[in-house]
Amino acid sequence: MSVEVDYDCIVIGAGVQGSFTAYQLAKKNKKTVLLEQFVLPHSRGSSHGQTRIIRKAYEQDFYTHMMEECYELWAQLEREAGVKLYRQTGLLVMGPEYSQSYQLFKNTLQRNKVPTVILNRDNFRQHIPHVNLAEGDGALVDITAGVLYADRALKTVQGQFQKLGGVIRDTEKVTDITPGPVVTVSTSAGVYRAKSVVITAGPWANRLLAHTGLQLPLEVVKINVCYWKEKVPGSYDVKQRFPCFLQTEGEEAKEHIYGLPSNEYPGLVKICYHMGSETDPDQRDKQTDRSDIDILQRFIARSFPGLLPEPAVVESCMYTLTPDRHFVLDCHPDYSNIVFGAGFSGHGFKFGPIIGKLLCELSLGEVSSYDLSPFRIRRFQTKTKSAL
Ligand SMILES: Cc1cc2nc3c(=O)[nH]c(=O)nc-3n(C[C@H](O)[C@H](O)[C@H](O)COP(=O)(O)OP(=O)(O)OC[C@H]3O[C@@H](n4cnc5c(N)ncnc54)[C@H](O)[C@@H]3O)c2cc1C
Repeated sequence: MSVEVDYDCIVIGAGVQGSFTAYQLAKKNKKTVLLEQFVLPHSRGSSHGQTRIIRKAYEQDFYTHMMEECYELWAQLEREAGVKLYRQTGLLVMGPEYSQSYQLFKNTLQRNKVPTVILNRDNFRQHIPHVNLAEGDGALVDITAGVLYADRALKTVQGQFQKLGGVIRDTEKVTDITPGPVVTVSTSAGVYRAKSVVITAGPWANRLLAHTGLQLPLEVVKINVCYWKEKVPGSYDVKQRFPCFLQTEGEEAKEHIYGLPSNEYPGLVKICYHMGSETDPDQRDKQTDRSDIDILQRFIARSFPGLLPEPAVVESCMYTLTPDRHFVLDCHPDYSNIVFGAGFSGHGFKFGPIIGKLLCELSLGEVSSYDLSPFRIRRFQTKTKSAL
């Protein structure tokens, strides 16, 4: 007996990961609907804002390998849509020269033959004016890195999905998921049935997964997105070829500090701390902790003498963190036609095209293009209904 379905696949959440998944499914001629709780575009999740860093510099080879293809997929989307989404600036990596983290970055880049320039104390100032390299820090530049135009990328991939016949339903909050050979998804506006479902709900992932009896060890934190004013306009400008940067650890903090050249807001440089304080995604701005801003102020006063050490603009965003900071890409342990991508831990945007491809493969039961073992849920002690 065949049960009627409305779609081959329902994708829940139109952030970067859900949008690329829907696009990949539509490219394979799968009838797909992308459901989003808010009016698009919105600034309530993790994918809003004008810019993100793209880089091959990682501590782990598996991310660098995935980025090789991912750059090509970004370029393909640019060609298809006739839109510029990426600007090469390079990424300056700084950190205590003999620390494990800095050495891992350096070794991964060199092992994978990523074009890299190692700077020494003598030529650092010549290449990177207006930045003070801390005593004992090493510095290198991942030449391939740059800026992704995030808002534009999201609009572009959603537009391409629609051109391929995909359906986007925004202002439709998913309120229930009933697993089965045909999955039923109820929203604030209707009921949909499909052969498979992909959950890419960002900070709301566990709320959606609860309908399927699964909970992941995810922590949602609010990030203060800080913009700092140049004392002399243009000193850190993208047009002056100032790079993106990442400080692995330092005097001020154990977590990364990262930044992008002045670009989206003229005269303002985006510099953020790679950690925040726990929040409820529905009440994000109830979280008012500013200890990350104190850390950034000390860092900027020491390392960026050309910036005023007081943020001119502070916006908000959220990370969804896993304990090991690696993504979750997997099928539900009890229902193989329910797939999820979650826990992108503040570094998932650049991987959007490849995450879309991998989640599409999982939902169609195809062999994965990459080894997914670092991303499987069996690395956690997960709770499922059957285990409770
Ligand atoms: C400040 C900041 C800086 C960052 N910098 C970088 C960077 O430089 N480089 C990089 O690679 N990454 C970066 N990231 C990380 C990257 O942006 C995220 O990993 C990525 O955006 C996560 O996308 P997502 O699709 O998983 O989540 P989201 O964008 O949050 O999308 C989830 C969507 O699901 C929807 N949803 C949730 N529940 C429901 C429901 N019940 N019904 C319908 N819809 C629902 C939400 O409304 C939302 O639109 C940064 C993140 C932040 C916050």
